[in-house]
Amino acid sequence: MANIIQAVRGMREVLPDKTALWQRVEKVAREVLGAYGYQEIRLPLLEKTELFKRSIGEVTDIVEKEMYTFEDRNGESLTLRPEGTAGCLRACLEQGLLHNQQQRLWYYGPMFRHERPQKGRYRQFYQLGLETYGMAGPDIDTEILLLTDRLWKRLGIRDKLELQLNSLGSIEERLVYREQLVAYFSKQPELLDEDSQRRLLTNPLRILDTKNPEMQVLVANAPELMDALGTESREHFLAITAQLDDLGIAYRINTRLVRGLDYYSKTVFEWVTTELGAQGTVCAGGRYDGLIAQLGGKPNHAIGFAMGMERLLSLVELVPNVSAEAVVDVAMILVGAAAESVGFRFAEAIRDTIPGLKLLVNCGGGSLKSQFKKADKSGARCALIIGEDELAQNHVSIKDLRIETAQQSCSQAETLAYLKNHFS
Ligand code: ATP
Ligand code: MG
Repeated sequence: MANIIQAVRGMREVLPDKTALWQRVEKVAREVLGAYGYQEIRLPLLEKTELFKRSIGEVTDIVEKEMYTFEDRNGESLTLRPEGTAGCLRACLEQGLLHNQQQRLWYYGPMFRHERPQKGRYRQFYQLGLETYGMAGPDIDTEILLLTDRLWKRLGIRDKLELQLNSLGSIEERLVYREQLVAYFSKQPELLDEDSQRRLLTNPLRILDTKNPEMQVLVANAPELMDALGTESREHFLAITAQLDDLGIAYRINTRLVRGLDYYSKTVFEWVTTELGAQGTVCAGGRYDGLIAQLGGKPNHAIGFAMGMERLLSLVELVPNVSAEAVVDVAMILVGAAAESVGFRFAEAIRDTIPGLKLLVNCGGGSLKSQFKKADKSGARCALIIGEDELAQNHVSIKDLRIETAQQSCSQAETLAYLKNHFS
């Protein structure tokens, strides 16, 4: 064992006993996204470092200290994507997908951030993200909240999540607010921790996002961004809350919600749970109308979100009786070389006839008894047996592994009919 190479810290595999649940969640998510007319986009894992610096912002946690950045063999600085928004927008701008058209897109895959690994926080983690372009809202803002609400309901976790909403206003409004905030925090600089002292100069809004318990009172008494919003931002926000009220979607306005990335404007939101400990934000997003021009495109509207799949999966696992799909429906037991060749051919015929059936054919020989044990362990509902007796009669024995019944002897045609009856 001493010589076995270990995985990179914070990068985990999903083992086979968990993949069924992942696939179930992925399938439900695809269905829900499809139900709202969203299309998948597949993006590279590597992008030029410049893309993330210019979009996420130089003084964010991600760009300051979390990126996996390296020089490739040509000396170009590349970064493993820490999130999907920048790459998605880069692709759409480069491929001309934003010319006089709206887009509703989603992507799925691993992201990379050099953070301190802990429960719900890894260095490679999966995100399912959604981005829309070309719609000013507030209707599209409501739509993506509705979509997530539907996803939680389909997964049986709606009661475990709270929707928190805020508005960050326009860039101009934030500048005014920024001054108020700097004035407020500068009155008592001794109450700021080291991070916040630095942020006071670089990015004071981020102080509101501090996790330091000793600063909570100070933060709670800070001026409210909501009060600094102009008419347009305020109306946008009120229209969303009115639509949510109308549709019966519960939410809580959290005026301290600022999000970790710099490109947001107006609507920001998080879906938060109290059931996963410190890492409680399962899905987070917002509007980022300024980013398209910032990346060199014609000014346009954008709103999106990303959900952390590991956190989502942990939550789904808390639902009682989340029954994973069967890995194996039917196990085929083959005793002897002649039975093996007949069995292999018959197994192919079964797969031709019932493509969805999960059929596990015994490989590697073994006695009838040991093969029965394996069949039982596989979770299969029934076993098909071909041994010497069956061969002699050109038959197959069918044995239900879960209900105590007698073994039946059937022709291959009868066996196919039996399987169709029970499994399709
Ligand atoms: P946090 O405050 O938890 O660090 P964030 O603001 O950095 O989150 P986003 O960049 O908005 O997160 O990413 C969206 C979602 O992706 C998060 O809400 C979370 O569910 C998930 N996520 C982010 N970072 C990680 C990570 N290191 N490991 C696992 N999931 C993560
Ligand atoms: Mg983070």
